[in-house]
Amino acid sequence: MDYFPLYHRLTDETVLIIGGGAIALRKITLITKSDAKVRVVAPEIRPEIQSNPQCECIFKPFEPNDLAGIKLVIAATEIEALNREVSELAKERGLLVNVVDSPALCNVIFPSIVDRSPLVIAITSSGQAPVLARSVRAKLESTIPASYGHLASLAAKYREKVKQRFSKLDDRRYFWEKIINGVTAEHVYSGRLEEAERSLTDQLDDPKVRSAGEVYLVGAGPGDPDLLTFKALRLMQQADVVLYDALVSDAIMELVRRDAERIYVGKRSSNHAVPQKDINQRLVTLALEGKRVLRLKGGDPFIFGRGGEEIDLLAEQHIPFQVVPGITAASGCSAYAGIPLTHRDYAQSVRFVTGHLKDGSSDLPWAELSVEKQTLVFYMGLNGMNTICQQLIKHGRHPETPIALVQKGTTPEQKVFIGTLASMPKIVEREKPQAPTLTIIGEVVSLHEKLKWC
Ligand code: SAH
Repeated sequence: MDYFPLYHRLTDETVLIIGGGAIALRKITLITKSDAKVRVVAPEIRPEIQSNPQCECIFKPFEPNDLAGIKLVIAATEIEALNREVSELAKERGLLVNVVDSPALCNVIFPSIVDRSPLVIAITSSGQAPVLARSVRAKLESTIPASYGHLASLAAKYREKVKQRFSKLDDRRYFWEKIINGVTAEHVYSGRLEEAERSLTDQLDDPKVRSAGEVYLVGAGPGDPDLLTFKALRLMQQADVVLYDALVSDAIMELVRRDAERIYVGKRSSNHAVPQKDINQRLVTLALEGKRVLRLKGGDPFIFGRGGEEIDLLAEQHIPFQVVPGITAASGCSAYAGIPLTHRDYAQSVRFVTGHLKDGSSDLPWAELSVEKQTLVFYMGLNGMNTICQQLIKHGRHPETPIALVQKGTTPEQKVFIGTLASMPKIVEREKPQAPTLTIIGEVVSLHEKLKWC
């Protein structure tokens, strides 16, 4: 290890920065995340630095005397000879010195930081491959919830009490693991700090007490696992049990915690789906058993996803739940097919419509849907394609209006069929697209030819 990581308390210390330009500004932005005082020495200093209340600006060239009383100095000028001089003088005096972008002149270097204070993660490639260090940092940023720091603060607040309550180290560790991986942590992440504290104190008073479960209603997006949200992924890796249906792709189910129980509630080969009210009840029962229940749904749970019905019973029974939005099929399919849903020249509005026509066609406002310059997105529209096209033409939409049918959008099996209101029913008959498919209707579809990219 060329560099050994230490964390430096900068409270009441003055950090000296030589240089007042863009390089100095970058370092100052970083340093002033701590409560250090910063003294900037340079003939010219950028206004952003001057207006930083933590900075004292001294407008003059560097002189060796500037190092008096300083422990940490950063040379951040573009003049190599000056940076070298600062480094040599500082080292002679036994100071800590960093020269931006010149590892050989430094005895300390600045890591990439993931800041979830009081939890702070430092990553360095020892000055060898900064881009690599930044990429590791990006990975950590995406997996550690933004509010992790609150959890660390809560742990700090109860550290002593937990020590008194459990004298054995193993018991303490077990307690904290339960807190950090359980419902208490979830309360913290969703901003319910009071509930988090209550849940922690309940478990402290009676560790045998089973804490109440929770339901996560999570949108899994249209199929490509890369389109999951950070929050969806985290909850998928937390859950004790998962209820999922056919729209959730195998690639996404791969990302669910290995030892979570999986319950399929979609259509079987017999084509009978589990009745909705049974699913609603099952969510309640599992949560009352103290489980963290993940209800994973394709796309967004609140867009043709019956999400409202599923949480209705939970709300009545006062079972805690969270709803995590997902990328809905309209957004996913249109993006991956290169069809912007709105466009200044072609469509000023977009409507998401169910193509599941309950009693033939009468239940949709066809006249409104036939107005020009709006994009229509039909979910579940494959079986009703004939009716949809006929009704739109009948109510005034031009028969040559372009229409796209996106099969299995965002997945490796994505296929886009392009036609017009007049021709699409025949195309469907001939090509037999496979579900799920999404139908996009409107002038924007004409952009597909130019904008398609995958
Ligand atoms: N809640 C979901 C929609 C559920 S309704 C969402 O927000 O996306 C089911 C319909 O969604 C399907 O009939 C189909 O029209 C559409 N759909 C979902 N995923 C799709 C995909 N990957 N490609 C094409 N259509 C999709």
